[in-house]
Amino acid sequence: MTRTDLLRGVRSTSRRKVLVSGASVAGPALAFWLNRYGFEVTVVEKAGALRGGGYPIDVRGTALEVVRRMGILPRLRDAHIDLRRLTFLDEDGSEVASIDPHTVTGGVAGQDLEVPRGDLTSALYTAVRDDVEFMFNDSIDTLDQSGHGVDVTFRGGSRRTFDMVVGADGLHSRTREILFGPEEQFHRYLGYCFAVFTMRNTLGLSHETLMWNTPGRAAAFYAVGDNDEVHAFLNFAHPEPPFDAFRNPEAQRDLIAAEFGDAGWEVPGMLAALRDADDLFFDGVSQIRMPRWSSGRVALVGDAAYAPSFLTGQGTSLALVGAYMLAGSLADREHAAGFAAYEHHTREFVTVNQDQVGEGDATLFPTTARALEQRNDMLRSLSAMPSAGGRPAHSALTLPAFTPMT
Ligand SMILES: Cc1cc2nc3c(=O)[nH]c(=O)nc-3n(C[C@H](O)[C@H](O)[C@H](O)COP(=O)(O)OP(=O)(O)OC[C@H]3O[C@@H](n4cnc5c(N)ncnc54)[C@H](O)[C@@H]3O)c2cc1C
Repeated sequence: MTRTDLLRGVRSTSRRKVLVSGASVAGPALAFWLNRYGFEVTVVEKAGALRGGGYPIDVRGTALEVVRRMGILPRLRDAHIDLRRLTFLDEDGSEVASIDPHTVTGGVAGQDLEVPRGDLTSALYTAVRDDVEFMFNDSIDTLDQSGHGVDVTFRGGSRRTFDMVVGADGLHSRTREILFGPEEQFHRYLGYCFAVFTMRNTLGLSHETLMWNTPGRAAAFYAVGDNDEVHAFLNFAHPEPPFDAFRNPEAQRDLIAAEFGDAGWEVPGMLAALRDADDLFFDGVSQIRMPRWSSGRVALVGDAAYAPSFLTGQGTSLALVGAYMLAGSLADREHAAGFAAYEHHTREFVTVNQDQVGEGDATLFPTTARALEQRNDMLRSLSAMPSAGGRPAHSALTLPAFTPMT
């Protein structure tokens, strides 16, 4: 008998129903904690199945305690990548500097986690799938809060009513658009776009990253282990966010080919692999900054509410901590007080982490020859230094314990 069966037996009439949109990181983590507090949870995901792929992600600081409390920390420790070296290359492929990766990321060796994104989403899904309803291949079409709940129509044609709805549907959240209007109002574009996809490990790399730079452009291979595949990464400066390309993979491929068409080193091979890649992830390097994260009975969590951008390496950690805080804030409160408490206790943590951009990470991708030379000098001096340890922002929230409403 699952935990849900037990709870159903105890309070079948009183369980509050929550719909969560998005089954990546924030969505399943939120579903896990809501289920723990006695809610009846449905997760709707527009993809046909759980989506793997993407660059390895970091789980650090406060977020480590979230995954420990969920019981998935040992599984994630087994999946930890143990990246040993980060090597920067010049335009002609010669080495600029080779450093301990933690020196740049602010991670703590032996403590913080870096895991393939698919391993994390699969661990989260496994932890909750028996207790929560998942609807794949569907998405919210309309939301109507005029009654005593939220009436939802789904693209697949069904119609249901929930006590609350939460958008965990990422940077380009449709829930946010329905609730608060166009993304442009909240989208803080940081001047770059990036693409990630897998390709053959032709250089025989192992537990390391190689990054090539010219002003405004970066190309990298990230070798997770000793296997035949690497994560390819292309990052380029682009003055305006290409909103049209965000939803169009062919436009993304064309844009990348135009930006890197004359590039040397291994880039021609990367462009060839990109044409056939079936796991391309492309996005703007952007943050979402919103004055509030809920309206009525609908709230947002994770990237949908407060994407910090990959420059901070904190997107996944914010999603995990935000999910924990949102569920816990609702555990013993009605929706309005719960959403207010979630925001009150989480916003400072979010802001201090979003503000990490500009504290050095963006300088990894300089846009002028002079800035690139300065960055290279900085990297050469870093290569002689040990890693400085974790950043205070990563642990700037101490997780409370929450108790469910009786
Ligand atoms: C396939 C994939 C690859 C990624 N790769 C990278 C990467 O390489 N680098 C990086 O910095 N970040 C990447 N990300 C984003 C990263 O996972 C998030 O920044 C972070 O983990 C926060 O997670 P989230 O759950 O808030 O949002 P996300 O991980 O973006 O998840 C949002 C989820 O909502 C789903 N969804 C979107 N719209 C709807 C809708 N209308 N209805 C229902 N479901 C919807 C999406 O399919 C997705 O599963 C990737 C995300 C995905 C989905």
